[in-house]
This record gives sequence, C-alpha cells and structure tokens, in this order.
Amino acid sequence: MSRHPDIIPQPGILGITPYVAGKTTAKGGNRVTKLSSNENPLGPSPLAKAAYIEAAAALELYPSAEHAALRAAIAEVHGLEANRIICGAGSDEIIAFLCNTYAGPGDEVLYTEHGFSMYAISARAAGATPVTAPEQNRKADIDALLAACTNRTRLVFLANPNNPTGTMVAESEINRLAEGLPPQALLVLDGAYAEFIEGFGGHAALVEACDNVVMTRTFSKIYGLGGARIGWGYGPAHVIDALNRVRGPFNVSAAALAAAEAAVKDETYTIRCRDENSKWRAWLREALAKAGIPSDESHTNFILARFADTPTANAADAYLQNRGLVVRNVAGYGLADCLRITIGDEIACRAVAATLTDFMKGARA
Ligand SMILES: *Cc1c(COP(=O)(O)O)cnc(C)c1O
Repeated sequence: MSRHPDIIPQPGILGITPYVAGKTTAKGGNRVTKLSSNENPLGPSPLAKAAYIEAAAALELYPSAEHAALRAAIAEVHGLEANRIICGAGSDEIIAFLCNTYAGPGDEVLYTEHGFSMYAISARAAGATPVTAPEQNRKADIDALLAACTNRTRLVFLANPNNPTGTMVAESEINRLAEGLPPQALLVLDGAYAEFIEGFGGHAALVEACDNVVMTRTFSKIYGLGGARIGWGYGPAHVIDALNRVRGPFNVSAAALAAAEAAVKDETYTIRCRDENSKWRAWLREALAKAGIPSDESHTNFILARFADTPTANAADAYLQNRGLVVRNVAGYGLADCLRITIGDEIACRAVAATLTDFMKGARA
C-alpha cells in the first residue's frame, strides 16, 4: 500500500507502538481459558446484564449526553460529588481526554517504567512526549517521579495499584507526589483496580483536597463490563469542565450507561467478586511460590509471576498455551522474565497452578 506523499499523520502518530491486547486463543487444549486481560471470571452482576439487554428496547434513541443517572449512582455509592464526575468509553477514553486537553507538542507526559501502555499511546496521539521514571523492584518510586519532572511536564500518570506489576505505593507517598509536582503538572491516579481493595477509595480524598489531582476508574475490571466500554473520572471542577469540552456528547452508549448504573448499585455482588478474587489470588500466589515461582504481593485481580529469565518465561507461556491457558506476556512492559496471570475462577486457578508446577518440575513440551 503506497502512502500519499502529501497526506501525512501529525508528528508523533507513526511513533506510536500499537497497543497489544491480551490473546484470546491458544493452540492445543480443548477448553481455552483466557487469563490475559484481567476480566472478571464471574462476569457482571446479573442486574447489569438485565439492564444492558433492556436497553435494546430503545436503540433508536441517542443516549443521555450528561450521564446524569450514572454519575448520580457513582456519587451515591462512592460518596463523591456527581458534578465532578465524567464518564467515558472505558477509562482509556478519559486518559485520551486528559492528554488531548493538557498536553501537546513540546510537553511531557510522565509515568513509571512499568506503567500502563495507554499513557504513552495517548500522549503521542496528542503530540506530546512520553517520559518514564524508573521503578524500584517493580514498584513506583516517588522520588524518581519527582526527579523526572521538568517545566514541560503537564501530566503524571500513576496507577495505584499498578498494572502489570500489581504493586501499590502507600497513601503518604501519593500525597507527597501530589505536593511535590511542579505547578503546571496534573497528577492522574489511575484506579482501575481500586475496588479490589477493601475500604480503598482510589485516593478520592486527595482529589477532593487538591486542585491538581484527578482519578480515573473503570467498569471493565471488578464490574465485569469490559465489553461495554465504560469508565469514569473524578477531579477538580476546572479539570472536569475542560474535559467535558473535549468529550463528544454521545461518547457512551445507552446500554453501557444502564449496565454500569446497575453494576455500581449492586454492592453485594461487587463485594462477592472482591472476596472471591482475594481468596484465589492468595491461593494461587502460594501455589506458585511452592512451585518455585515468586511474585510480589498483588493488590489487583492478577499476579505477576517471575521466572528465572526470559527464555524460561517464554517456555512457561508456551507450556500454558498448549494446555489452553492463555496468560499475558509482558515483555512490552520491560518485564520479559514475567507473565501476568489474571485470577480466574477456582478451576482456572487450580489449572494454572498444576500446569506451572509440572512445568517447573522439568516438563517442557
Ligand atoms: C484495564 C486498565 C484500564 C482501563 O480500561 P478501560 O477498559 O479502558 O476502562 C486503565 N488503566 C489500567 C492500569 C488498566 O489496567
């Protein structure tokens, strides 16, 4: 395909490394278990599913442009101010709004060494320059982030807990980061996994107290609505106002809005998902440790399993795949000796543990 010499993408666009989604298929095994995208093995709340289906009755109508009902439900459940919430087609869209609104050519977007890949993609799409700060043993290093700030830093993204490491930094460290940033930099705390931690509000209190901190959240992880594409952000009024000017009025579908509203209200179901995840995460971490595969304590719905080296991790990946177990290769995150394994249901966790135990015993085919 030839490229028309005068029709050229904006600077930076062709420098984007495309996002690599978790694999959905594997050769071998009859039953494919997808543990590569941190999806909820229990699926969404039955009430969310019902609301999604019910939305089919009015598909000819445009969705709400203000998302008032969903914002009210989120505000009620999380104890937040509804008028400081913005909804997007996944939190990925909120990340893109932030980059488009606050960063452009010549500006820097800062995140950590093993940070989520959408930060770099959205930064480059906005014409800005992604900059990374080193982590310490797969954990965000607040001093390194502060040291990497310049007078061009406009956005600092930090997922707490982080994907793909699963690690978390203390609230006092996050507060120190918010306080120490240069005045033109906005801190974005990505809380995609916040609901997996009992009593954790994703640093909402910090957002309330500061005018330079935003939080992003998603319905794709604990709520099991990855296919619906819905997430949200919470921030100071001046930020939400700016983001709403960039947002298309009908960015979120009616079915996604309805499903998310039902999901956030079904707190009993969310708690059940959190408890199941905690139980099987602890079980799997211990089973892997016994097999000789260490991992950091995870605060999410996945485990980052560490192998002796990259060839061993790749061999383990292939060994799992041959048995229908699809996990995530995270070489693109600078973690080529690791595999990220979503906490599936009991059957999936037992299958992963048994398979990796066999693998470590020397079975390599
Ligand atoms: C999964 C994930 C998201 C966003 O997912 P959406 O489906 O776009 O809401 C954002 N940040 C991190 C760190 C994630 O792991």
